[in-house]
Amino acid sequence: MSQREWVEKDYYAELGVSKSATQDEIRKAYRKLARENHPDSNPGNTAAEEKFKRISEANDVIGDPAKRKEYDEFRAMVSSGGGFGGFRPGGAGGPGGATFTTGGADFDLGDLFGGAGGGAGGFSDLFGGLFNQARGGGGGAGRTQARRPRGGQDVETALTLTFREAALGETVQIKVSSASPCLTCHGSGARPGTSPKVCGTCHGAGVTQRTQGAFGFAEPCADCGGTGSTIDDPCPDCTGSGVTHRNRNVNVKVPAGVEDGQRIRVTGQGEAGFRGAPSGDLYVTVTVRKDEVFTRDGADLFVDLPVSYPELVRGAQVSVPTLTGRVTVKVPAGSRDGQILRVRGRGIARKSGTGDLKVTLRVATPPAGMAEAELAAYDDALRAAGYDPRADWAGSS
Ligand code: ZN
Repeated sequence: MSQREWVEKDYYAELGVSKSATQDEIRKAYRKLARENHPDSNPGNTAAEEKFKRISEANDVIGDPAKRKEYDEFRAMVSSGGGFGGFRPGGAGGPGGATFTTGGADFDLGDLFGGAGGGAGGFSDLFGGLFNQARGGGGGAGRTQARRPRGGQDVETALTLTFREAALGETVQIKVSSASPCLTCHGSGARPGTSPKVCGTCHGAGVTQRTQGAFGFAEPCADCGGTGSTIDDPCPDCTGSGVTHRNRNVNVKVPAGVEDGQRIRVTGQGEAGFRGAPSGDLYVTVTVRKDEVFTRDGADLFVDLPVSYPELVRGAQVSVPTLTGRVTVKVPAGSRDGQILRVRGRGIARKSGTGDLKVTLRVATPPAGMAEAELAAYDDALRAAGYDPRADWAGSS
């Protein structure tokens, strides 16, 4: 029977006795239930058969004073978390990556507490970081396994870019105020000129083995805080943590065509890890400002081009802005208002491909009264030629 089951099973409840029941009370309760559920008196009753197995198992453990003591200790330890040494890491740990050993079978704390319910989260939080740290500090930590070294936390920040900065991409320097590697000791935590020493207690493993009842536990070394090293002469500026809180300038490489709301990850620029453990990452959420001229959709760039009516009718060559200088666009004779002209390859040069510039023709109206006589003559001429702007209009009839 594995001790994993001990977490999930309440043998006292199974036998209907209190945790403080005497051995005599437990024996009596078991005998009564065993009689009631015995397969011989319940042929074909699988529920009774199951119950019989469970009470037998319960009796095997709490009916035996020595086993009962182990069971009680184990359950108390698991439910309180205190039995692991009451040690708390300097920083909040990541997701639990802790395992411990019981008589040869490894099992996962996160897993275990998932099944145990209440209070599990806190426990996992408390120890997740420790075991990770142990790996970072020393590796080779016996049976203790960590999913990743305990590093610094990720940091979130925001960055506002102009439309053009976002479209073209550029390296932007931003200020980050966070836990950073100590400049004095370069993150080692040791006074300059000295070095951390391998911890004499855990020999660099960062974990020690402890026996509790029948089980061996790997737990973070209390003498080195799970780092595997000790510092005799701490750095005066960071008091040995290797971490100081300060402002840093971080260069953020903004890719061309970044979208509003997109997050850019800057690896290793989050909070510094304890005593040189890897830093977290920096996540920069981008806000892109609107532009007076351009809008965009993915890699395509859009611009509205004001044109006169004669330019639409007769055609024209018009200068149009792009992100990188101007181009001349040919408006074909007979173009219509709202028509879109495409200029290939003058959109946004994203990694995934370069978009087009899409030019929407917008007819502009001259102020009333301008060239009045000429417009009247022009109007008359169109009518004389038989032009009716509403001739093909569905709304006419
Ligand atoms: Zn320092």
